Amino acid sequence: MVLGFAALIRAPANSTGTRAIARWRVAGGTDYLRSNPTSRHRVTVTGISIIRAELPFHAPFRISLTRTESTTNLFVRLTASDGQVGWGEASPSPAITGDTAATMAAAGPALAEVILGRTVSDIGGAVRAMRARMVGQTTMRSAFDMALYDLAARQAGLPLYAYLGGANRSFVTDNTVGMDTPKAMAETARGFVAAGFTAIKAKVGEGVRQDVARIRAIRTAIGPAIPLRIDANQGWDVPAAIAVLTQTEDVGIEYCEQPVRRGNIRGLKQVRDSVAIPIMADESVFDHHDALRLAAAEACDYLNIKFSKSSGMWVGRKIAAVAEAAGMACMVGCMSETRLGLTAAAHFISAHPIVRYADLDSHVDHTLDPVEGGMEIHRGRVVIPDGPGIGATLSDDFVAECEVEDVLA
Ligand SMILES: [Mg+2]
Repeated sequence: MVLGFAALIRAPANSTGTRAIARWRVAGGTDYLRSNPTSRHRVTVTGISIIRAELPFHAPFRISLTRTESTTNLFVRLTASDGQVGWGEASPSPAITGDTAATMAAAGPALAEVILGRTVSDIGGAVRAMRARMVGQTTMRSAFDMALYDLAARQAGLPLYAYLGGANRSFVTDNTVGMDTPKAMAETARGFVAAGFTAIKAKVGEGVRQDVARIRAIRTAIGPAIPLRIDANQGWDVPAAIAVLTQTEDVGIEYCEQPVRRGNIRGLKQVRDSVAIPIMADESVFDHHDALRLAAAEACDYLNIKFSKSSGMWVGRKIAAVAEAAGMACMVGCMSETRLGLTAAAHFISAHPIVRYADLDSHVDHTLDPVEGGMEIHRGRVVIPDGPGIGATLSDDFVAECEVEDVLA
């Protein structure tokens, strides 16, 4: 018998003698999966707009890597063949992802080409197609991923948390104190607590003496009961990280984010093995491949998921799954998103109990809030809307003042 290239192999009969699964495999072929052209779930993306928004901050925000005074975010608005609209947001953080407003604007139309005409529910297919078109550009890809989830959930008539298989839960978010003098950081932290926040995150990573002084000043200002997290944003080397975390062991630090450079996994593990304070990877984990490497190296206790690193929720869920399998809890953080992107993150957190910590505070720094609907923070807890999809949109008045690029079918 001659076996041709397209020889078919029939699944074996089961014990009842019937062929339970009519499964055929094409040897060497690739058409295991074919779209069914008669499927009634064929709502497609028919229009795409990319909206550029300038968002100034109340005050400059400094971390060990950068100092920023404003953000230029790009929003993606998808229109579907049934008239529904989905929203996504991209907020660049060049020092972390390499993406800028300019590179996102350049990538946007090429990604839009990949998305236009696609079935709305086929988020996995869209994510793979975007990744095939463009490596990197995780921030801009995340805006399309977010808008597709918004559309798909709207079509299902469900809030995004329910579409993701979760319940509506409120949770604590911290508010982040930018790097400054110990005295100024202590005053800012005290102000956040007075405003109702029940967890504080502090940016450090400049040097042992200054950072120890910052951490002690903040703890004194906020008292012993408020959880205090710190984030070095890769600012230390291994000896400095061990020195700061050893000298502040009595301060009650909940965990420390990214003490050393992102590629230094061995150093991250060295720090973790040397101090009592739990270690969270942030810049070291972009996707599920990174998560698996960190888990295998036992280099950290927690993972910080951000859609701008993971290219969105599709891969974010994979990171959460790796974390769960490895016994690591997660945080979901942000760059400088408005409440639109933050609300998508809030739905994600609500649907994934492995996410124990939240850092959804970037809108607090913005002088404008152009978002209608969306999450609110009440006494330090995030409250999520119950409408379909993300439940947040940009106001028409705000969009009218922005630069808008339409990609039409
Ligand atoms: Mg961080």
